[in-house]
Amino acid sequence: MNRSIIVLGAGMVGVSCALALQKRGGRVTLIDRREPGRETSYGNAGLISRSSILPLNNPGLWKSLPKYLSNRHAAVRYRFGHLLRNPGWALGFLSEARPGRLGPRVAALESLIAPALPLHKRLMTEAGIAWRLRDNGFLELWRSEAGAAAAEARRIWLEDHGVRIEALDRQALSALEPGLNPIFSAALLHRDSASVDWPGAVVEAYAGLFAARGGTILRDEVTALSRQGEGWRAIGKSTQHEADLIVVALGPWSAELLRPLGLKVPLNVERGYHRHYRPAQGRFLNRPIYDVEASYMLAPMERGLRLTSGVELAHRDAPDDHAQIEQVLPRAREAFPLTEPAEDVTWRGARPTLPDSLPMIGQAPRNPGLWLAFGNQHIGFSTGPVTGEMLAAMVCGETPLADPAPFRPERYLK
Ligand SMILES: Cc1cc2nc3c(=O)[nH]c(=O)nc-3n(C[C@H](O)[C@H](O)[C@H](O)COP(=O)(O)OP(=O)(O)OC[C@H]3O[C@@H](n4cnc5c(N)ncnc54)[C@H](O)[C@@H]3O)c2cc1C
Repeated sequence: MNRSIIVLGAGMVGVSCALALQKRGGRVTLIDRREPGRETSYGNAGLISRSSILPLNNPGLWKSLPKYLSNRHAAVRYRFGHLLRNPGWALGFLSEARPGRLGPRVAALESLIAPALPLHKRLMTEAGIAWRLRDNGFLELWRSEAGAAAAEARRIWLEDHGVRIEALDRQALSALEPGLNPIFSAALLHRDSASVDWPGAVVEAYAGLFAARGGTILRDEVTALSRQGEGWRAIGKSTQHEADLIVVALGPWSAELLRPLGLKVPLNVERGYHRHYRPAQGRFLNRPIYDVEASYMLAPMERGLRLTSGVELAHRDAPDDHAQIEQVLPRAREAFPLTEPAEDVTWRGARPTLPDSLPMIGQAPRNPGLWLAFGNQHIGFSTGPVTGEMLAAMVCGETPLADPAPFRPERYLK
């Protein structure tokens, strides 16, 4: 391919698109208003998950809904006014939780997630950061007896979907993670998943690889897109950029630039927070844990243990509300001896989510040359490289490594 391409957004998804297009001969310019990997792709839990194939809006959501409606649960909080202002998204999200919609969405997520770890391994080796990968799985943990039954049901379901899971008893868990307090009655080790010790640094290294291979990275805030003859123009705050093709990979900011083109994308966000804590002397974790009944993740990172919170349904830019992360901190301390914060900040990010919890990957209808790659919800750090490979294959008319039909923009855009 000998075409000029602008990729907007240097998060995991945009950088991966840039690399995959460059590999196919594209002359690629990557534009972001910040350094690569400083937004959502920075603050996640760093999990490259093979198991996240059950969307949050699955039929089980109906059973959990009453406890979430109280707005006190650590897993899901919402701002009522925000949902009222986005009825289309909220109703669409709930409507996707009906049983008949589950199978096709699980299959689509599986097709996106199964190739993720091998692609990351290749990129990490090429970028010289293979040492950032912990290929030792992650742990899902349950405290109660009822939780033990849930763990068993989940093990069976995941194994039916080809995911390798090992159920651990208390003794095996303590041998694997001696730093944990013995409060868990059931544990699943997700063997096909892996994690990294600093997600932002991984994106930065992938962007470095793109630049080392001759790609151009520019800092600019893009405010509008327009057709320019057969190609496209991105109007930035500092300058204008033109290319044959343009890829919008702006994560939670993707919808705004498309609206003036008549493309109304029902994109919303599931916000989340993190904080880093120091472990007590001599205690450590070897891999991320998810404490299912307490609704937090704790992931060992370069700068401490990263405690991440559940979902907050609020406007992307609304002020912080630390209630969820404050709520889970004492629960996390029951499981692991966290001491003082390692930094004085609480990070907030926004998972970009479409009503069906599947990303949009493909060419925008009625806009030849305008390509879309966003909406990777809870799994964008994992699935960025697969998204990039799929998009680049479609741009070049190759067969993508997963069926693109479930991700086609036409499901929401006419
Ligand atoms: C708390 C939390 C935990 C998570 N844990 C995991 C996990 O363990 N594993 C996993 O796979 N996923 C996880 N996720 C989800 C994952 O982080 C996201 O799906 C992923 O980072 C989205 O990547 P992206 O490239 O689409 O968006 P982003 O990383 O947000 O990138 C978008 C880029 O666009 C740029 N931009 C925006 N507007 C403009 C503009 N006008 N002009 C120029 N540039 C612009 C931004 O600066 C940014 O760099 C988690 C998310 C959260 C919030």
